[in-house]
Amino acid sequence: MALGPLEKIKKAAGATARPKRSLPCGRSLPSEFPRAAGKGHAALIVRLRNFIEKKDLNHSASRDLILNAMFAFRTHFSIGQLVKKFQTAHSHIGAATVYRNIPLFLEAGVLRESFTDAGRQPFYELARAGHHDHIVCLDCTAVFEFHETAIESSQDRVISKLNFIPADHKHVIYAHCKLLSRDRKPGMKTGENNEKLHRRRQKTIS
Ligand SMILES: [Zn+2]
Ligand SMILES: [Zn+2]
Repeated sequence: MALGPLEKIKKAAGATARPKRSLPCGRSLPSEFPRAAGKGHAALIVRLRNFIEKKDLNHSASRDLILNAMFAFRTHFSIGQLVKKFQTAHSHIGAATVYRNIPLFLEAGVLRESFTDAGRQPFYELARAGHHDHIVCLDCTAVFEFHETAIESSQDRVISKLNFIPADHKHVIYAHCKLLSRDRKPGMKTGENNEKLHRRRQKTIS
């Protein structure tokens, strides 16, 4: 790839330019809905507190700690990833406590299940304001978020025609990457040689 004037200066100065793209296909990471650190956390704390009061549950210090561990994720996470993060800081609290609290976080509307990956493992995210749907790339497992007004209003029309009031929905598209398939040789199976492709793309984009 030909270097622009700025890149040439940086290269001459020995600066290592941060790669702009980090996915094997060359797409930018992350999603369309980047999370600012701390954004929406206060509302989630209040939502959880109100739910606990309404249900007449006892206050639990470990529940607050789990919520804090979830705040550290800027994007989707599996419960396994949450347990790992949580136990790094709080090894005295068992994984069972985390697992036991997940249904409560879901019911309280603090956490939502976003999608299951290609291996059917569920991934979650904090239930911040704003609806979005997901695209799971079957070639590199990256997850993209999108909001398409036309899809949302079509769903609403169908639901109301069938006399339902929508409460929630999950729309997940499992897709193959067109950008990656450009690099895929005929006969190469999905996911095959991803490492090789990744290295090649990294070389061409950095
Ligand atoms: Zn949607
Ligand atoms: Zn999401």
